[in-house]
Amino acid sequence: MTDASSPPLTIAIDGPSGTGKSSVSKAVAARLGLAFLDTGAMYRALTWWCVQRQIDLADKDAVAAAARDLPLVMGTDPAAPSVTVDGVSVDQAIRTTSISESVSQVATNLDVREELQDRQRVLILEARRTVGGVVAEGRDITTVVAPDAEVRVLLMADERARLARRSTELHGGSDRASVEATREQIIRRDRDDSTVSQFMEAAPGVETVDTSALTFEQSVEAVLGVVATKTGQHCG
Ligand code: C5P
Repeated sequence: MTDASSPPLTIAIDGPSGTGKSSVSKAVAARLGLAFLDTGAMYRALTWWCVQRQIDLADKDAVAAAARDLPLVMGTDPAAPSVTVDGVSVDQAIRTTSISESVSQVATNLDVREELQDRQRVLILEARRTVGGVVAEGRDITTVVAPDAEVRVLLMADERARLARRSTELHGGSDRASVEATREQIIRRDRDDSTVSQFMEAAPGVETVDTSALTFEQSVEAVLGVVATKTGQHCG
């Protein structure tokens, strides 16, 4: 746990799908008593909102305008993170296959990125002020949103491990058919996302944690280890 006398702490975590990024980040935030910001959920929420309002995702100006007007509230308690749009709880609705398949089209719109990155910086500052810090995870947190974060981590895993994890999440197993069904979605999404953010290689000063051979708990411990090294703060 960080305590009231600790200086504010931002832990920025990036990485591709299937590295355990979200669940590891949430657990690290809970262990340290920090807020948790899932920035991918913000791109998903905007995608959901555009679909609701029948905005053509290919119409870049209309999607950028929707981003600026998006009535989004992010709940950043790691024990109960929440995403609300215009008063509607969308935690489940933003995780559907259809949103996963279209979110990259929204996230590769550079005007959208600028707007959501600004909002993310505001949320990070607010968390630093109110609860002493935040674990913010996504694709461009270590490089663009919070390059000055006290701790910056790139979570990686080999393709096989990433596909097996995602396939278990999406299809309940990692048999061959499930992995193949997952492959197209995950690989294409990471490839599209890579055109606007660098998250397949660590930027200078960013620590890589490879979770390929790690269990969930070992991954959490590995990130806490980086935090301890960088801040001199031991997390028990
Ligand atoms: O992490 P998650 O899979 O929920 O992210 C959904 C999508 O949001 C990503 O595929 C990517 O298109 C977008 N994203 C992004 N930048 C971030 C976080 C997510 O472009 N910082």
